Amino acid sequence: MTRLLTDPAEAAALLCAGELVAFPSETVYGLGADAWNGAAVAAVFTAKGRPHFNPLICHFASSEAAFAEVVADARARALAQKFWPGPLTLVLPRRPSCRVDLLAGAGLDTLAVRVPAHAATLAMLRQVARPIAGPSANRSGQVSPTSAAHVLAGLAGRIAAVLEGGDCPVGVESTVLDLTGAGAVLLRPGGVPAAAIEAVIGRVGRPLPLATAEATRSLRSPGMLLSHYAPSLPLRLEAQAVTGAEALLAFGPRPLPGAGALWNLSPGGDVAEAATRLFSGLRWLDAEGQRLGLTGMAAMPVPAEGLGEAILDRLARAAAPRE
Ligand code: AMP
Ligand code: MG
Repeated sequence: MTRLLTDPAEAAALLCAGELVAFPSETVYGLGADAWNGAAVAAVFTAKGRPHFNPLICHFASSEAAFAEVVADARARALAQKFWPGPLTLVLPRRPSCRVDLLAGAGLDTLAVRVPAHAATLAMLRQVARPIAGPSANRSGQVSPTSAAHVLAGLAGRIAAVLEGGDCPVGVESTVLDLTGAGAVLLRPGGVPAAAIEAVIGRVGRPLPLATAEATRSLRSPGMLLSHYAPSLPLRLEAQAVTGAEALLAFGPRPLPGAGALWNLSPGGDVAEAATRLFSGLRWLDAEGQRLGLTGMAAMPVPAEGLGEAILDRLARAAAPRE
């Protein structure tokens, strides 16, 4: 049973307990999960029925809280000052101390952050005192919800609760701005017009470049594009045997014997647990394999059911030949 809540403190308590809670914002309703909790983040993808992992926006109660997790330059601070709380999402480099689970950021070294403008949600975010990951609160492939009733129509029975907050006044998603490079790039037009952003970061008369459809697709399916994110050791899929020169990404109770290094995604064979250990595992195995002078990585088969589909999609990208 999905509960309809009016008290932000109740929503906060559920989130801290690892439950999923949809929350209102000025843009659309978000599907919230404790971003420190990998299992809660994995549950977001399950509830949405998403066949791939894409990076989620993390929501904070204040710019101070957001900038404790990411590195904010002068542009980011000026934009936050002007537009937060509000429908602007900034993509910035993660701090080394960032505690947001790698799955929430789809394994990237960057993180999308935002302070939403909704009183009940801000109260909830203050109470949890941690980042809340939140894609739109709809099933994959359906339109974004702008009322609690829309959320329930898609997700009733799949999430713990919805924090009731009325209809969303903006109704389109936030503008997503990539500030990780020297030049700002518009990844998604949204609630804050590009011209208003240009005015704040001193680009009057110089329109922000809009990421190409291809680049945006790559960001949604990161790893195709971002070389720091793809493992440096070659990855072999559907391994049925492994050598001592390979690092093994195992799944299930019977890891293939003889690997030079081992990371088991889920000894119990649980795809949701495997999702929470995927990005940390790829990173650790890659580093460990290089440290030991191994020549490659091999991944055991993972069943293509539930989050297994998203895991296989991500592994296929990591194994694809590099440009
Ligand atoms: P939604 O899931 O509807 O909230 O959309 C989130 C948007 O933010 C998508 O377009 C993502 O590709 C984008 N996004 C989130 N995190 C990042 C990131 N680290 N780098 C680039 N884009 C991101
Ligand atoms: Mg969406």
